Amino acid sequence: MLLRSKYLLINPETLVENGFVCVSGDRIKSSGKFSEHECRGEKAIDLGETVIMPGLVNPHAHLEGPETFGGTPPPGEKRLLPFQSFTEWAEQIINMRQRMKPDIFIKTTDHGYDLLAINGITFVGDHSHIARTKNIHANAKIRRVVFEEVTDLNPLTAQQRFDEVRRNVKLIKKDKFLGTGVAPHAPYTVSSELYKKLYGFARQQNIPLSTHLSELKEERELLTKGKGKIRAYLKRVGRDNYYWRHPGTTSVQYMAKLGVLRPPSFFVHCNYLSNKDITVLAKSGVSVVFCPSSHYFFGHRNHPFRKLLKLKVNVALGTDGLGSNEDLSILKEMKFILDHYPGVNPTQLLRMGTLNGLKTLKATEKLGELKPGYCADIAAFPLKHKSTKPEHLKRVLIETSPKSILTMVAGKIIHRG
Ligand SMILES: [Zn+2]
Repeated sequence: MLLRSKYLLINPETLVENGFVCVSGDRIKSSGKFSEHECRGEKAIDLGETVIMPGLVNPHAHLEGPETFGGTPPPGEKRLLPFQSFTEWAEQIINMRQRMKPDIFIKTTDHGYDLLAINGITFVGDHSHIARTKNIHANAKIRRVVFEEVTDLNPLTAQQRFDEVRRNVKLIKKDKFLGTGVAPHAPYTVSSELYKKLYGFARQQNIPLSTHLSELKEERELLTKGKGKIRAYLKRVGRDNYYWRHPGTTSVQYMAKLGVLRPPSFFVHCNYLSNKDITVLAKSGVSVVFCPSSHYFFGHRNHPFRKLLKLKVNVALGTDGLGSNEDLSILKEMKFILDHYPGVNPTQLLRMGTLNGLKTLKATEKLGELKPGYCADIAAFPLKHKSTKPEHLKRVLIETSPKSILTMVAGKIIHRG
């Protein structure tokens, strides 16, 4: 199959005008200027005023509902709007999830996968509860790492919880499109005993470990002093534990002390970091996932990702779930940064939304570039401004954040808009 378009982004740096990609089986056979193609006899699709680029990567989603902001809340439940405190939001979500019928988890996961394809995302890290949603993950069409998420602050039940996680992870039949991971929820909801067991398992299985880290201002108060707003919240939702002892240090330094701040772990949010945390993170070689829209939803300010990038930390972009985001679009996450954080250029953002995400998810296939021999994971976005010049192309693409008109995974078209 031959795809032709006005612009072709072979990778975030390399732009070709009037380009083509020739796909054979699941791989890219050739790519470059259309006038030089030697892809005779292939079925040709002329996509016209579009940009063809490598599929986008979203390493942090929660597809299973409730979709209380960007989607439809479950029957009888209300929409939860932005700028409320995280703990109030989380308490409502926890209560709602207890009332949710099993089919809502399945429907929302299915809907989430559709929405990712519509947004040109070809690889996702979904944080889920596998026993409930395994069939949807098994049949999804995009590349995915499915993380089993777990919360348990009680050190005495760490072994029991660990056994459950291992059992659930094994419910997934892995293949080259479908991998697994473990996701201890956060340092204020998971005991150190459970963290260590899950890290050992991730390392032994060579699968990623994902955890929310330094997301909240109040998280530091709990971890350093053992008290504060989060403690009260944990009590209210029945997640506090008598046997849990606060580590007396920040979340980042706590993870380092446990031996978890090392690959294959990666860390989501990292909104509140001290200078020492930043130094420790940068030395550790782990990836960080910044979720700009979700960050804004909870009223956080000034994410330190530019400092992390300067120190060569691999920073990727995530969407989080439709409970704290209006969409699952990596282009919109890039746009949010462009609008709110000076000094970040479009090429860097495209890198964060593709190659950095692949590194975060430990992708082993040749992905993220449209060069011969690479997997044919492709997204094509229409140009809303017809006379867009090449030097403005990347910025216009991000600022207009269109939906994909063609999303392809391993040579198969999985969405056509
Ligand atoms: Zn999350």
